[in-house]
Amino acid sequence: MVDIPFACTMCGKCCNNHSLPLTFDEAIMWLEDGGHLHVFCEAAAWPSPPSPADAQAAYRKRRSFAARSGGSPIHVAALLVGVVKGPCRNLGPDMRCRIYDRRPLVCRIYPAEVNPFFAFETDRKACPPDAWTAGGTLIADGDPVDEATCALIAEARRRDAEDAPRKRRLCRALGIHVAAVAGEGFANHMRNADAVLKALHEAKSAPADDGPDDTDWRLYSPRAATVETLRSSGFDAVSQKQKNDTFWYESAAAMPKLRAAYAAA
Ligand code: SF4
Ligand code: SF4
Repeated sequence: MVDIPFACTMCGKCCNNHSLPLTFDEAIMWLEDGGHLHVFCEAAAWPSPPSPADAQAAYRKRRSFAARSGGSPIHVAALLVGVVKGPCRNLGPDMRCRIYDRRPLVCRIYPAEVNPFFAFETDRKACPPDAWTAGGTLIADGDPVDEATCALIAEARRRDAEDAPRKRRLCRALGIHVAAVAGEGFANHMRNADAVLKALHEAKSAPADDGPDDTDWRLYSPRAATVETLRSSGFDAVSQKQKNDTFWYESAAAMPKLRAAYAAA
């Protein structure tokens, strides 16, 4: 694999039309600043527990919470996503971030990836071609090498794991119990901003012991074959939205890129 150099050209493209996965504290800040926040849910359905040697499954488990769907165990990863349509509200006319000192972790990490199982590809990035022809080495053998970027990625992964039980409480409070099948896409849930902010504050300060896993999760896939397989293993899975469902489906392939991808493990 060739080393990939990188030098930001300050073009500002990455601050337009993106979905920013935020930590719990960043999501609170984002909403308090007047931004839009959605909750994206995907779930891994493992009819039998994955091997402890399965590093990808271990990564997924660390950043998700356990629940049940149709009586079978799942692990739900909920992403708090700052949705940016057009230019980010924090982007100044000089293409500089107006909240630079408190900008989200993903903005600091970009264009590197948070998820170690997500292959780095310059084609997936908003950066212009000349950004990849100058500067120090960002990626070597597929992994980031810049010390500061590595420290930020480690911090993002630590926060992701720390936030998982809070996200369980948040989903409960907001009545969110539908997740897309992991790797296929996300169930995108939007709620009233004030209700989400209140639930974020409450979920953050609630005691750690939450009792038994929630049992009312449903899996959504647009693929009939996926649904049939899941149902045969006892999961509550559907390929059609049910009455009163308010989520919409985001295909992993078609959705705007999740900046510094957390998902698709
Ligand atoms: S918060 Fe700042 S760095 Fe992040 S997308 Fe918005 S303008 Fe860009
Ligand atoms: S798209 Fe890439 S080159 Fe342009 S401002 Fe963002 S990080 Fe820098």
